Amino acid sequence: IKNQIKLAILSINENVGFARAATAAFSAQADLTLTEIDEIKVAVSEAVSNAVIHGYGSDPHKQNYIELVMNLYQDKLEFIIIDYGYGIANIEEARQPSFSSDPERMGLGFIFMDSFMDELEVQSKLGQGTTIRMVK
Ligand code: ATP
Ligand code: MG
Repeated sequence: IKNQIKLAILSINENVGFARAATAAFSAQADLTLTEIDEIKVAVSEAVSNAVIHGYGSDPHKQNYIELVMNLYQDKLEFIIIDYGYGIANIEEARQPSFSSDPERMGLGFIFMDSFMDELEVQSKLGQGTTIRMVK
């Protein structure tokens, strides 16, 4: 491993932008094009935004934290986004294009993560939370 940053981010919408900026700063250390860095920024912010909205239900009365771990290896970047919230009942269904548990939403977050990153791993347990691991 060449570098590692671990962040604990309070689960509020305003911090999605912070996570995006931190992701961009970290990714700049890797040998990537601007387009690739933009793709990583979208993928990580979709995962963080999902943690805020779905993982913790956007509850402003609780001090919930999202962990963002960023790892730089010789030839790849790895991002791990962890929440300890509701969890996902059916991961396969959740990853389908246009699936959303919220009729107001597009259900595109996982599609962006899938198409912009080389690897996407989703682990989740109802009532325990969700871990997203992505590699580029
Ligand atoms: P969009 O991302 O387009 O605003 P969305 O968030 O509903 O819509 P996805 O990001 O693809 O779409 O997520 C699909 C579904 O997976 C969500 O509607 C939600 O039910 C579930 N989900 C995703 N992330 C989490 C999470 N961290 N905790 C609990 N459920 C999640
Ligand atoms: Mg989403």
